Amino acid sequence: MDWNGVATHSRSAEKWKAFVEARQKDLGSFLQFDPVLGCVDSSPEGPLAGVPFAVKDNIAVRGFRLTCGSRMLRDFVSPYSATVIEKLLKAGGVVAGKTNLDEFGMGSSTENSALMETKNPWDLRRVPGGSSGGSAAAVASGQAAFGLGSDTGGSVRQPAAFCGVYGLKPTWGAVSRYGLVAYASSLEGIGVMAKTVDMTETVFSLIRGQDPRDHSSLPWQPPAMKKGPWRIGVPRECADVPMHADVKKTLEKTRGLLRQLGHDVQDVSFPTLDHVVSSYYVIATAEASANLARFDGVRYGHRTRRADTPEAMMVASRTEGLGPEVKLRILLGTYVLRSGFQDEYYLRAQKIRTAIRMDFQKAFEGVDLVLMPVYPVPPFERGSAEADPFSQKLADIFTCAANLAGLPALSFPAAVEAGLPIGMQFLAPPFAEELLFGACRQVEKVFPSPDAPGFPAGWR
Ligand code: GLN
Repeated sequence: MDWNGVATHSRSAEKWKAFVEARQKDLGSFLQFDPVLGCVDSSPEGPLAGVPFAVKDNIAVRGFRLTCGSRMLRDFVSPYSATVIEKLLKAGGVVAGKTNLDEFGMGSSTENSALMETKNPWDLRRVPGGSSGGSAAAVASGQAAFGLGSDTGGSVRQPAAFCGVYGLKPTWGAVSRYGLVAYASSLEGIGVMAKTVDMTETVFSLIRGQDPRDHSSLPWQPPAMKKGPWRIGVPRECADVPMHADVKKTLEKTRGLLRQLGHDVQDVSFPTLDHVVSSYYVIATAEASANLARFDGVRYGHRTRRADTPEAMMVASRTEGLGPEVKLRILLGTYVLRSGFQDEYYLRAQKIRTAIRMDFQKAFEGVDLVLMPVYPVPPFERGSAEADPFSQKLADIFTCAANLAGLPALSFPAAVEAGLPIGMQFLAPPFAEELLFGACRQVEKVFPSPDAPGFPAGWR
């Protein structure tokens, strides 16, 4: 089935809505599903005419709630749309609804949402990944043609990998962040999830470009696209990271496939890999503690009923409105930034960040692309003790690197092992997204996005 017109042409629209609502009961991907509202600002024409898409609920869509998965913003309705949304509506796309996420994007399982539980369409006992788990589940189950997410440290690529779809984290600055609720501004960007490389690329080409409303956005400036075969580097240090046997096996399988396709797959060195997680969590929490100071019960969001003074009101509003993971990160962030101690944590993390960037620069002198796993383990069970908050942070090792270096990265389905999808990712130099699409398209010909159980036959 062709996605065009699905959300607007009466017959297929009714069929599709019934399908989404039935799946929603199992999956919990949407916090708000309302394609009628999602049509309001949509153009009747364009490359995406009538194509329904899912939007992570930390991206503003006029008239929809913008909860960020938090009690703090549970009833907040956005008065405006993000730039990416305006662009997609102009292209004819229809917002199907807003999808679940870890509160403010903090997590890797969507279990940190204060509002709903989301399940993996491959196995309802398992998490869909996170933080953009709702969008990933919606795309993988056939509820939406594509999904938008945000990637600060892997939140588009990891849920895409957990659900068996493509997940693009663009070059930092290539896509406007206007209308994205900020978590860690220097690391994050809006990304795309879809069942095909073509759809991922189409959406990216519609949303990218400089935006006067986001002064950190950059003009689209792709380098000349190099023709294949490509030199592809796999960081030697990946082998030292504890990995599930199925992930290791998939890395080897992908290496072999790329060789068969005629590419020169070689080892590269990435000596700072070991420091990626610690520097990421220092910088991300520092920025989060500043960005989340705006939720004070004064301007918007939850306000306590029980307080006698303005200060007590702010404290109680934040205590009641924010969840434990968010509080932990605000505390960590204020700790690493406290006066007199910045040299010890924040400035050191920034130096490591520079070293990471330089490692990549050096690697890209010898290779065109870097190949890495996305996550060290396959989709894990909901509420499982092995995936406690600390091990989940350590497991961000393969994804955070691209964010610290500002590089584009695309995760792709690479295998199904024991009934669960496993993803790998390519990283490229800044603005070389085309190279990512080119490489993934070759893999896609051999191994397309596998359909999750219940995926409607022929919908892509
Ligand atoms: N797992 C990472 C974190 O918890 C990813 C977050 C993200 O990319 N938004 O910070």
